[in-house]
Parts: sequence; C-alpha cells; structure tokens
Amino acid sequence: MENSKQFYINGAWVDPIAGTEFDVINPSTEEAYAQISLGGEADTNAAIAAAKEAFKTWPKSSKAERLELMESILEVYTRRSDEMGETISKEMGAPIEMAKMAQSGTGTSHIKAFIRSLKGFEFERDLRENTPNDKIIYEPIGVCALITPWNWPMNQIALKVMPALATGCTMVLKPSEQSPLSGMLFADIMHEAGVPAGVFNLVNGDGPGVGTTLSGHKDIDMVSFTGSTRAGTAISKNAADTLKRVSLELGGKGANMVFADAPEKAVQQGVARCFNNTGQSCNAPTRMLVERSRYAEAVEQAKEQAEKTAVDLASKEGRHIGPLVNALQFDKVQGLIETGIKEGARLVTGGTGRPEGLNRGYFVRPTVFADCNNDMDIMRQEIFGPVLSMMPFDSEEEAIEIANDTDYGLTNYVQTSDGEKANRVARQLRSGMVDMNGVARSSGAPFGGYKQSGNGREGGEWGMEEFLEVKAIGGWFPDAP
Ligand code: NAD
Repeated sequence: MENSKQFYINGAWVDPIAGTEFDVINPSTEEAYAQISLGGEADTNAAIAAAKEAFKTWPKSSKAERLELMESILEVYTRRSDEMGETISKEMGAPIEMAKMAQSGTGTSHIKAFIRSLKGFEFERDLRENTPNDKIIYEPIGVCALITPWNWPMNQIALKVMPALATGCTMVLKPSEQSPLSGMLFADIMHEAGVPAGVFNLVNGDGPGVGTTLSGHKDIDMVSFTGSTRAGTAISKNAADTLKRVSLELGGKGANMVFADAPEKAVQQGVARCFNNTGQSCNAPTRMLVERSRYAEAVEQAKEQAEKTAVDLASKEGRHIGPLVNALQFDKVQGLIETGIKEGARLVTGGTGRPEGLNRGYFVRPTVFADCNNDMDIMRQEIFGPVLSMMPFDSEEEAIEIANDTDYGLTNYVQTSDGEKANRVARQLRSGMVDMNGVARSSGAPFGGYKQSGNGREGGEWGMEEFLEVKAIGGWFPDAP
C-alpha cells in the first residue's frame, strides 16, 4: 500500500502533527490501495502560517517572474500529465483513457489559459479616459484557502491555484479526501517547478476538520470552494464571523431544451454529455426537456444511447464509463433511482443494481426516466450519476419556465437550428452558462452559477478578479513612476 501521509508545507513534505489515518479506495475494486493522513488544527495552522509569511514577499514579484514560474509549472505538468491521469483514474474511477485526456488535460489547458490571462491583465488602470488623477490598482486579496471536490480534481485545483498564483496570493489547498493523491502529485509538480516556499501549501483533511479550520481562520482572507451546496452553506456560515470573501462553485441541475428543429444528433449527444464522467459533473445536462412533436422519438433515441453506453473498470482502455466514486454516492444514486420509480416516472432503461457482469465496484446502470414532471425529486435533486430525466413541453415559454424552475442555475443547454430562437432563449435562462447545439464555450470563458449554484466565476480575467482587491486612488501623480 502506498504511504502518502505527509503534507506539503513551506516548500517541503512534512509529517503530520495531529493526523488520523484514512484509506483511499479504488472505486472499481472497493479495495484500499493507499493511506493518507487527515490533518488536524495544528497542521492547518502550520500551513496557514507558512502562507502568511510568504505573503510578505510573493505579492511583490513582478508579472514577468510569475509568468516564468507558470511556464515552468506548465512544462513539468505536461511532462507528468499521464502520471496525473493514472492517479486520477485510480482514486476516483474515471476510465484511464478519459482520465489522461479529459481529466488530466483540463489541468494543462487551465494553466495555459491563465498564462494568457496574466499576460493581458492590467493590474494598474486609469479610472476612465481623461481621469489622470484617478488610479485603479488591483492587489492580491491575501492568504487563500482552496477547497476542492473529487469529481474533476485537476480541473478544480488548476482553476484555483493558477489565478491565485498569477495575482500574487499565497494559498493552502485542501483537496477532497476522496481524491487526495492527484492533489499531492500536483504539489510535487509545484515543487519541481520551483514555486517559492510557503506560496503553495497542501494539507489533506476532511470538511469537519481541516475544511472548517480553514473557513473560520482569521488569517485566511478568502475561501475559494467547489463542491456541494450543503458544504458551501456551511463554509459561508463559518466564514461569516471573520467576514472573509467566499467564492462558491456548487451543484447544478442543467436543463437541456431540445426543440423540434434541433440538429439530428441532439438527443444522443445530450445523453452522452449527461453520462460523461459517470454523471458526476456539476454542469451535466440531467433534465432533458423535449418539444412534444419530437418527444416519443427522443425517448427511443435516449434509450438506445443509454443501452449503447458501456460500463467497465476504470483501468480498462476504451470509451466506457467507470464506477461512481464511493459507497456513499453509490447508495445515494441507487436511492434516487428507486425514488424516481416510486414517484411515477417511466423507467425506460437501466434501474437499480449493478450492470450485468460487474459484481464489485460502485458501478451503476445507465438509466433513463421519461414522463417526469418538474416536481419530482429526480428533476430537482442533483443525482450525480448516469441518470437522465426526460419530460415533454409544448411551447418555448413553457420550456423556459421549467428550465428556470430549479434551485440551481449553473449550465443550461439549448438545441435548435433557429438562431433567433436560440439567442432569445439563452437570454432568458437564469444560469451562469448556456451551451447551444453542442458548441463548447472557449477556454478563458467564465465558469460559475446563479442561485444555489454559487456566486463565483472561475477562468479568464473573471477568475483572476476573484482573487483581487480593488484599490481606488484619487490625487494620483500621472507623471511620477
Ligand atoms: P463536498 O461538498 O462533499 O466536498 C467538497 C470539498 O469540500 C471536499 O474537499 C470536502 O472535504 C470539503 N468539505 C466538505 N464539507 C466541508 C465543510 N463543512 N467545510 C469545509 N470544507 C468542507 O462535495 P463533493 O461530493 O466532493 O463534490 C461533489 C459536489 O461538487 C457536487 O455537488 C457538484 O455539483 C459540485 N461541483 C461543483 C462544481 C462547480 O464548479 N460548480 C464543479 C465540480 C463539482
């Protein structure tokens, strides 16, 4: 069994002061293959103290120095990207091919994107044209706690660490205890790339332990959190006493609106998108709303696509989906499939239990429910498994109303070949993102949600601004250096 019990603090791997042992489970086999330590308050305090000390110097680094460091991180990360994919695959169950390409690949693309954003970012600007005595200066907010989930571990870590570094912040990362080894590998990459001691620190731990110490600590100036809405609420409450900035990227229940004039493959692509990463994506299109004239055909297409979706071990090459991350998620998804059946949705394919031939591992059957209504739990709760809920609609207004009738507001999807309708609908959707006809948003576009999907934006200049304070100066000497 791998021994990974240390934390990365002040530029070195150190033994825990008050750690408790925690097994890392391979979700394909249900067997523990590594042990980490969950840190205690003393470990967290040591990491915060190192980051606080480093904040005395890191904000003074020049843009050129930060760019050079980020290029060095990119070089080391790219070289070790396959190792990262293998680590992610084993700890959270993404199939190996997908883990190397998509999961690990998001790290590379975010590092590149933030190098570009930093190059273009002006930390000192005039207020407006012809206001020479008004200066706006963007300054790093301070010591940041970065708390990340297990479902896209490197995506989330890169989306937080890179802008924090680029803006001159120092940080303590607490990766999910369900996917800690990719975070530790990332710390190793930061070390190899030459990140100065104390600028980046990592402490493993759980929410009630390290997570809570971080969010309540007076020396933490900002918490950047990605995870469940439940934890986002707990963090916000705990952070309130010290009035720190809290940036939240939370859950979602995306609607995929398929109009009668949608491109031919819209349904198949929607199902594949919903099941990608075994349905464990906050922005998955999990509610498929289909215009009635196309509904019966769409249900058949969804059934076919779900039945074509292979489920297999994460270690196997190929384009299948893997297991869910752990026993807790497995039980939750099984429970919600049962709920869907009980509340009267039509089970088109899939259902409870494991797929045939897989008797171990947290595997679930790709499942499609039809004839849902928007009051059902399976239309309202984030299931976080390969489960699609479908319902028909009769008009554009009704589709928009159903799409917006949710506590969440992360990503909605529009499928129509009528450009005017597409843009009109996109404008009315209450979500931070809208994807239309399978066209992905470009790298550097802001990622984040409305309502209970959170309040932050990650990526591009928006992702940089999250980590910055804004200083307005009157009486500036425009001719002085
Ligand atoms: P989770 O909230 O259980 O855990 C996320 C992280 O928060 C972990 O590191 C965990 O240890 C920590 N944590 C838990 N409780 C905490 C507390 N009280 N105080 C401080 N830290 C705490 O979520 P998860 O199960 O790891 O991830 C799945 C969730 O993440 C889903 O709801 C998903 O939609 C969401 N998610 C959102 C986005 C986004 O950008 N909007 C991206 C990925 C995942």
